[in-house]
Amino acid sequence: MREGDIWPGLRNPDGSRWHYLDTAATAQKPQEVIDAVTRAIGADYATVHRGVYTRSADMTLAFEAARRKVAGLLGGDEGEIVFTRGATEAINLVAQTWGQANLKAGDRILLSVLEHHSNIVPWQLLRERTGVEIDVCPLTPDGRIDLEAAERILTPAHKLVAFAHVSNVLGSMLPVEQAVKLAHAVGAKILLDGCQAVARLAVDVKALGCDFYVCSAHKLYGPTGIGALWARADILDAMPPWQGGGSMIDRVTFAKTTYAPAPQRFEAGTPAIVEAIGFGAAVDFVQGIGLDAIHAHEAALVARARGELSRLNSVRLFGPEDSAGIVSFALEGVHPHDLGTILDEEGVAIRAGHHCAQPLMDHLGVPATARASFGIYSDDSDIAALVRGIERTMRIFG
Ligand code: PMP
Repeated sequence: MREGDIWPGLRNPDGSRWHYLDTAATAQKPQEVIDAVTRAIGADYATVHRGVYTRSADMTLAFEAARRKVAGLLGGDEGEIVFTRGATEAINLVAQTWGQANLKAGDRILLSVLEHHSNIVPWQLLRERTGVEIDVCPLTPDGRIDLEAAERILTPAHKLVAFAHVSNVLGSMLPVEQAVKLAHAVGAKILLDGCQAVARLAVDVKALGCDFYVCSAHKLYGPTGIGALWARADILDAMPPWQGGGSMIDRVTFAKTTYAPAPQRFEAGTPAIVEAIGFGAAVDFVQGIGLDAIHAHEAALVARARGELSRLNSVRLFGPEDSAGIVSFALEGVHPHDLGTILDEEGVAIRAGHHCAQPLMDHLGVPATARASFGIYSDDSDIAALVRGIERTMRIFG
């Protein structure tokens, strides 16, 4: 799956391959996404939804086609897709509209230890406003959300379960159907943070049975500044508006304003037109390869990387064996930032830090981890370069 020429971001200035192992932070972009964005901001550019001229009408068709593509990727209907700036904004949207309208003091939300800050802090902000309580589901010893514990914790007071579909640190995959069943058994809704999942697993929100699903295009080989919230139509229709402005209204008078139906009700202002079209191109791109093929490719890389790293005595691996495209580890006696710096000198880019998951770092008992994450373009040469870099670091640190 290497095809170096279609990935300009993977080339060093001298033309050699950059060993990019930070796809979980953001994915490099294939040429066809870059071309789609270039056309949209150049030759095809115009506003959407308002223009009476042909270019704007064409742009509107392209923008709405992107919404249909995202709906197709997630298995939802296009009327259930709200474009947001990303997963973070999508979760904040749910907290501030659905959460604010439906949750009150005494109600409970269940999160897990491994959540990204963007699936923690919006709920804490909601807690400050409503008095809702937050419970935290523990992990299994190998770093999965412990659904047996979740079953024990959940009560009819729980109105929402919000879990990562795939952990951005450990790569752990949530058995979604089981989680959905547990949430629904107590009458709670379930939100899945699909940020790391959409680029690694085939997703079908209808088959999974969840209530909310969020993702960011930039992790799916698309542009930054765009993502999506999928919510079941009946839930979305009942949600009050969020931000006010143009495009989200039906009729405005100073006495009273009425609102557009969903999803437009949640998309105030001129949308991220170019980014949405790039998002659509990214969906076409990954679907052209197939998510099952992408998953198999990354599963093989994870198995190989974990195998190679476990042969190095000073490496401690985190997370389950079957993680989805992501391997976190620590090197004994070396801070992950030092490791990251030395690897950079070797032309290898990993992420070192808390990965916006400080409660998970506390749970693991480390301030930070080193993380190698794979994508469509990753290959064995990246793993070999990583291992060489770690061995050099071990020599430097004695
Ligand atoms: N959730 C997870 C699991 C993530 O990995 C990320 C991005 N690191 C986010 C949420 C937030 O995504 P964004 O910054 O694109 O809004």
